[in-house]
Amino acid sequence: MSKKEVINEMKLSLQSYSVNESAARAIVSAFCAQLNPTFDELSDIRCAVSEAVTNSAVHGYRGVIGSISIDVKLYGDRSLRIEIKDKGCGIENVEKAMQPLFTTDPEGERSGMGFTVMENFMDMIKVSSKPGKGTKVSMTKKLSHLPIRK
Ligand code: ATP
Ligand code: MG
Repeated sequence: MSKKEVINEMKLSLQSYSVNESAARAIVSAFCAQLNPTFDELSDIRCAVSEAVTNSAVHGYRGVIGSISIDVKLYGDRSLRIEIKDKGCGIENVEKAMQPLFTTDPEGERSGMGFTVMENFMDMIKVSSKPGKGTKVSMTKKLSHLPIRK
């Protein structure tokens, strides 16, 4: 088996209700747990998933309920890829949206740090978006090798 081979995959579709933010976090981390991540790695994954799903619900659909799809692939080299997609309003300028502290939230409740959190907690994040069509956030992370227990 080549190390980059997909060893397991999960596809999930959730409505953009806020209760599903914690559901997405819990389901994805339960699925990734089979790779034996450290506690810190698992909490990084949970935070990144939460931020992306919240963005789709809050910004993508802006209070209207739509579907968010989540695709998780686990690879033989202990890496994983998480794709979170919505069919919401999309992002005009992705580069600008990804700057720390950039937010379009008119209420002033958001800090504009979601993408920065995803960048810091995962190894790589790629955002593709088309205004009026939706947004896809693709994130990868390579897990460490656990020390051998004696
Ligand atoms: P925070 O995440 O700190 O609560 P935030 O959501 O505004 O604040 P980011 O997550 O970094 O900050 O997102 C920056 C901006 O990118 C958002 O304010 C929004 O304009 C845009 N954005 C992010 N995700 C989406 C999405 N899925 N659909 C449409 N716009 C998005
Ligand atoms: Mg956000």
